[in-house]
Amino acid sequence: MSITALAGGIGGARFLRGLLHAVPDADITVIGNVADDITLHGLHVSPDLDTVMYTLGGGINEEQGWGREDETFSVAEELAAYGAHPQWFTLGDRDIATHIVRTQMLSAGYPLSAVTEALCDRWRPGVRLLPVTDERVETHVVVADDTGMRAIHFQEWWVRWHARIAAARIMFVGIDSATPAPGVIEAITNADVVILPPSNPVVSIGPILSVPGVREAVASTDAPVVGLSPIIGAAPVRGMAGATLRSTGVEVSAAGVAGMFRDILDGWLVDTSDADSVAGIEALRTEGHLRCRAVPLLMHDVEAAAAMAREALDLAWSSRRQDA
Ligand code: GDP
Ligand code: CA
Repeated sequence: MSITALAGGIGGARFLRGLLHAVPDADITVIGNVADDITLHGLHVSPDLDTVMYTLGGGINEEQGWGREDETFSVAEELAAYGAHPQWFTLGDRDIATHIVRTQMLSAGYPLSAVTEALCDRWRPGVRLLPVTDERVETHVVVADDTGMRAIHFQEWWVRWHARIAAARIMFVGIDSATPAPGVIEAITNADVVILPPSNPVVSIGPILSVPGVREAVASTDAPVVGLSPIIGAAPVRGMAGATLRSTGVEVSAAGVAGMFRDILDGWLVDTSDADSVAGIEALRTEGHLRCRAVPLLMHDVEAAAAMAREALDLAWSSRRQDA
């Protein structure tokens, strides 16, 4: 069975760990978000790719959900002593090694997809991890301050300002000229099932689907496409995804997120506490069928994430049978 998943950072990675647990023999391709990437102190940092790689490779800081376990911060302290900026984004010593290798390989001319493959040679995540594009795409957030409107890097808005400054607009700089990395379109077209894990719909799944050709491939693949809501009730399970939805005018609810993907979804899972919204969600799809089920969607451990993965696959198979 070949499974292709589109993933951001923490929510995506934790779900994928459950998926691997549920179907260890599946051939899994992960199409990762790169629009959170940022250059810091001359180093190319790919937060979402690294979160997937460290989580599946056993090197993640479990409590935090990102970064390396048993991390130290000597380099960050030395940089601060020089007054080097920015200081709102701290890189750990162990993590820095990853960014040095990535930056060196990129400077030598390797595409990000080849660099990611090389990094995964060490981590053996058990999936094929593909950046959605080898081109540079960056999420920027338009905010208003005393000086008027200005665009800041997504990481500055998220990490420095904790998404507390109202976002007038979120845009993916460079997306129009980006092309899918080698293997991305094939992975969607040839999959037996395509999964949208509970990742941030605006800034994680959003840029992946916005790379020209990707959304079209997901819409036209023969494989059933199923997603899991990152929103339970009226709030994201963890983190600040609500602010990103509000800035795009989408209701912060499982139904609101389903609406963003109504053109591509065959199935959508909401939490049991949102069972009331199932019928409304099933009515969202304009063509074909959209099946919605309410199941527990809290990933409190690997087993819970695995159960969610089994529910997603089950929904996928039943969608396929209905179409056949
Ligand atoms: P990021 O790049 O680290 O922000 O990670 P993602 O984009 O992959 O995922 C962030 C989303 O994961 C947030 O919107 C959360 O609501 C969602 N999330 C995190 N933990 C859980 C969980 O246990 N269950 C569900 N349903 N969603 C979760
Ligand atoms: Ca991210």
